[in-house]
Amino acid sequence: MYGVSQVQLSEVPPERWVQLQFSWSGKSFTLDIADSDRIYDLKTTLHNLTKVPPERQKILGLVKGKLPPDQDRIADLRLITGKKFTLVGTPEGDEIKDPSQLEFLPDVVNDLDVDFSEDLTASNAYKNDQRNIRKVKEATEKLEINIIHPLRPGRKLLVLDIDYTILDTKPLTSGSLPPSECARPGLHEFLEAIYPYYDRRSQTSWIWLETKLVELEMIGSHRNYQVSTVLDKKCMFTVFTERDGKPWTHSVKALQIIWNHFPQFNATNTIHVDDLSRNFALNPREGLKIQAFKGAHTPAAMADRELDKLGYYMVHIASVPDFRTLRHKDWKTVVRSLRRS
Ligand SMILES: [Mg+2]
Repeated sequence: MYGVSQVQLSEVPPERWVQLQFSWSGKSFTLDIADSDRIYDLKTTLHNLTKVPPERQKILGLVKGKLPPDQDRIADLRLITGKKFTLVGTPEGDEIKDPSQLEFLPDVVNDLDVDFSEDLTASNAYKNDQRNIRKVKEATEKLEINIIHPLRPGRKLLVLDIDYTILDTKPLTSGSLPPSECARPGLHEFLEAIYPYYDRRSQTSWIWLETKLVELEMIGSHRNYQVSTVLDKKCMFTVFTERDGKPWTHSVKALQIIWNHFPQFNATNTIHVDDLSRNFALNPREGLKIQAFKGAHTPAAMADRELDKLGYYMVHIASVPDFRTLRHKDWKTVVRSLRRS
């Protein structure tokens, strides 16, 4: 399975593309779409071109009757180049969206989590999907990496989720608690403990993240660790599958996008810590799921020792030459047995 992700950029077979024409608000547009794309991707393209959000889009004359659901393939529409249609819909204003709300959305809307390390068939179906392969390639090209602190040679890579992994986002967003009180207990001690072995990057909306990290004193502080870079949410994308016979959609974080930028990192030396297993769908073996941190400031949350245990585990495995020999799923059992001995 690791071979797949290593070669995916070079072994993409050619795809069938069609060019469509549409009119909207008295103007003409053209767009290119691939057979492996989904209806969702068509709506996203229309959104990018016109700023009409998907829920307001009325697409007339493209297909007979109603447009199929988001997860359906463009190939099923049997479109030919030159096909014309009309888009009706009001664009969103140029108002700046509250980034915290964007950030917050996925966890609220989609609470279902799935462990793909137990379902490698589903994970491989994602990886071998032409559309997803192309999404990884596009995200690689789009990703601009701002190195805050240089990467150090010979270190391993930690991809660390922010929201509900190292802080409780909700009271921070609403302003009901000061930032320092939203951090998970033991955060700074955890980062100090692992800093000698790992370079870190975090994945969330950029500006919001920088703000959050500054507020948490993780950037620009005199602490004994440095964050290497923060990754824009643009390097997450939406994937489509079925669960219990129903369409299921969620976001993924593809490590391949980072590996393409930093070839010194790969499956042998990368670990991705997140409170949502589904974020590991493309790299299930590299993922370590941590319990979500919510309810900051409640007695239960103040007694949370997850980061303490995680630091113990990560220092323990730091000298393992090939992380593929590990099973992060058992991380808590490993910590328990280490502490007993
Ligand atoms: Mg999270």
